[in-house]
Amino acid sequence: MNRQEVEEALNTDLSSGLTSDNAKKRLNQYGYNELEEGEKQSALLLFFSQFKDFMVLVLLAATFISGLLGEYIDAIAIIAIVIVNGVLGFFQERKAEKSLHALKELSAPQVHVLRDGSWMKVSSKEIVPGDVLKFTSGDRIGADVRVIDSKSLEIEESALTGESLPVQKSVNPLNNENPGIGDMENMAFMGTMVTRGSGAGVVIGTGMKTAMGQIADLLQSAETMITPLQRRLEQLGKILIVTALILTALVVVMGVLQGNELYTMFLAGVSLAVAAIPEGLPAIVTVALSLGVQRMIKQNAIVRKLPAVETLGCASVICSDKTGTLTQNEMTVTHLWSGGKTWTVDGVGYEPRGSFYKEEAAIELSVEKALQQMLMFGMLCNHAELIEKKKEYVIDGDPTEGALLVSAMKAGYNREQLLSQFEIVHEFPFDSTRKMMTVIVKDQSGKRFVVTKGAPDVLLGKSTAILWDERKKWLDRETIEGVQSAINQLASQALRTIAFGYKEISPQTVILNETEVEKELTLIGLQGMIDPPRPEVRKAVKECKEAGIKTVMITGDHVITAKAIAKQLGILSHQSKVLEGSELSNMSVEELEEVVEDVSVFARVSPEHKLKIVKAWQNRGHIVAMTGDGVNDAPAIKAADIGVAMGITGTDVAKEASALVLLDDNFATIKAAIKEGRNIYENIRKFIRYLLASNVGEILVMLFAMILALPLPLVPIQILWVNLVTDGLPAMALGLDQPEGDVMKRNPRSPREGVFARGLGWKVVTRGFLIGIVTLLAFMIAYQQNPSHLEYAQTVAFATLVLAQLIHVFDCRSEKSILARNPFGNKYLVGSVILSQLMVLAVIYYPPLQPIFHTVPIKAFDWLVITGLAAIPTFLLAGSFLLRKTK
Ligand code: ATP
Repeated sequence: MNRQEVEEALNTDLSSGLTSDNAKKRLNQYGYNELEEGEKQSALLLFFSQFKDFMVLVLLAATFISGLLGEYIDAIAIIAIVIVNGVLGFFQERKAEKSLHALKELSAPQVHVLRDGSWMKVSSKEIVPGDVLKFTSGDRIGADVRVIDSKSLEIEESALTGESLPVQKSVNPLNNENPGIGDMENMAFMGTMVTRGSGAGVVIGTGMKTAMGQIADLLQSAETMITPLQRRLEQLGKILIVTALILTALVVVMGVLQGNELYTMFLAGVSLAVAAIPEGLPAIVTVALSLGVQRMIKQNAIVRKLPAVETLGCASVICSDKTGTLTQNEMTVTHLWSGGKTWTVDGVGYEPRGSFYKEEAAIELSVEKALQQMLMFGMLCNHAELIEKKKEYVIDGDPTEGALLVSAMKAGYNREQLLSQFEIVHEFPFDSTRKMMTVIVKDQSGKRFVVTKGAPDVLLGKSTAILWDERKKWLDRETIEGVQSAINQLASQALRTIAFGYKEISPQTVILNETEVEKELTLIGLQGMIDPPRPEVRKAVKECKEAGIKTVMITGDHVITAKAIAKQLGILSHQSKVLEGSELSNMSVEELEEVVEDVSVFARVSPEHKLKIVKAWQNRGHIVAMTGDGVNDAPAIKAADIGVAMGITGTDVAKEASALVLLDDNFATIKAAIKEGRNIYENIRKFIRYLLASNVGEILVMLFAMILALPLPLVPIQILWVNLVTDGLPAMALGLDQPEGDVMKRNPRSPREGVFARGLGWKVVTRGFLIGIVTLLAFMIAYQQNPSHLEYAQTVAFATLVLAQLIHVFDCRSEKSILARNPFGNKYLVGSVILSQLMVLAVIYYPPLQPIFHTVPIKAFDWLVITGLAAIPTFLLAGSFLLRKTK
């Protein structure tokens, strides 16, 4: 089919696209452009899965038996608590699942589509047959399309064909009657990747009606969503279960030996096991992770792989691109050079108004032929579009090209007019390895010219002549030095420089490849543009330094420009070194390893070098975050511990390889994400410590009572109530805690550190032990006062155990001590503690609940004793912190 036939068959207009109304109708007709996912777990199933835990089943069975034996109230109450616990677990898991799903949606790809005559970006799931799409190097194709425009378009189709070499695409109709997917040169398929050039196409199939849809079942991607900590907790969970079971069994055996009834001890034991096994831990960890991820989104960072949240907290090096990440990527040409003369041009941002000056005097452009020619070439060899939006000018496309477009417009050039004089017959797109872009144009008399722009040092190497005083002159040593000094002069002012060259070729010349074309050029001159540093970056770099994280600049830009900007941002100090791409090429990873820790700036690098840099840092034992945006950056992004892709300028390929996407392309966002990553991990440590210390306390009070031949200090339903009251909300609230003031003043955590590192295990054991002891003490005091009134002593023990845990929860907010920060700073925690205490008071003082919970009202004086004892585990150790501090 040719272009017109395609247009008719799909009932669309290839020059203006579908109308939005028509697109909406087609969306209803054809459905979303999505591959169907596997079965999801239903809500009901998720709810029931809360009760599949072995110990919960044993508890339910034991309760059922006690019900049969006539203990109706106990049985119903226990079942009610188990259900409430299940509901809590259900909501926690639901929340975790939902936020993971939301994450997936957020990282869904966007495509460029032509609708109502203008190009816009929409989510790829909204594409319909008949839509016209455009794509460029690094994009994933959003649907199956018939190619209608190809500029050196090459697509890698390995996802479909297994063939990893890219295939060239053209717009020509196929000759083959029955082509295989690999032979369809005028088709681009959903999910395949543009590796070179650019093109456009019209959608012929979406969703399951694509080549990818037909093999979708094979592709159910298994992205790892379990973090290393979760895996460690899973293993730890097993150990904890076994320990809890052994200790509980010990409690039961001791209790029976001391003369308690087997049935009572069994129910108490099972309740204790249910309470002591931290079954909610994995769900709370997921919730804490995903809530942290939501907070990161608010700060413009999208985590694509959950494990990255943890790794972020370990990052010790950030290798960052310069352009757009450390700088604003809003370029304005300010200086121009040609044939030994320098001009300046004024103006604001991308507004196409400004005048040209020579030594501060306005010039008449028409006399400066070389300058005119350079500006004109800047517009010809250019894809950027200038758009005026509400009196503001923005660039659609590459900002470097935007700046060149604007400088040409300031000189009065108009693209349409220019393209009517010069027809572009061929193009070699820019790539960051070559650092050049070339167009071949034909003028009205049929003459052909090669017009190249690119990095000045590279272009100088490809030139044999230079335009000097409007005459072509062969490049000699002296002239080369003159050009080099002009380049350095511009670069030392932190300007990004682009050089321009050209040559005439005969109309018969066969255009083979860029290497053949981009040689023997005549250099015209240079344009230098400012790209101011982002204002917030300097502070972010400083904060990273204080947090033990080194910032390294990696740029394709000129070494002098890179140095100037790195100095402004505090990245380059007197001691640190600068390495250039050419030096890097000659070094092995091992050689780089020797020096890498001293290097702060890598300049004129190609994307391929990034992988070497990542490896060298990693071999030195560092955890590396590496940013990138292009197709060639993907291997380094993948290899880095935290691959970071740019949300605005990044290609789909870079984003897919990354663990973190920066919605605003801003370096400061990486710092914010690292801070959040550290905080999330610290919060997880906080509630692990809290939950485990509580459980140790619960088990020990029962165990010690049995060893001392005392009666049961807590009845089963009280144990379960303690578990419900203390484990649920306060632990969740700890997950929402704010970071400690010094979270970015500590060195990065080692990724190998275990769950109980940095004194956590010690804290769990000592606090847990003390909670057990004070509860037992409270029980013994009350029991001795009134041995015939066991329920009174049990109520006192119950109140002490809960209160000791609720005081300890505030201590868990700090790595140091409860006194190190305002204990009431977390309002969720204060709220949940008040609620938990009310739940305890309710079962002690609300008469209808008393028989169910085997409680009796206790007096104000008892509360004094209870509070005093309950505070001991926390304040005894806080006292030791104060002592150490005053020393
Ligand atoms: P970063 O700092 O993010 O690595 P960069 O823009 O400095 O980005 P590249 O985009 O690889 O790195 O550009 C390398 C060099 O190529 C630039 O310094 C510039 O001289 C030249 N260059 C950049 N964009 C273009 C373009 N569109 N056409 C021709 N040359 C370009």
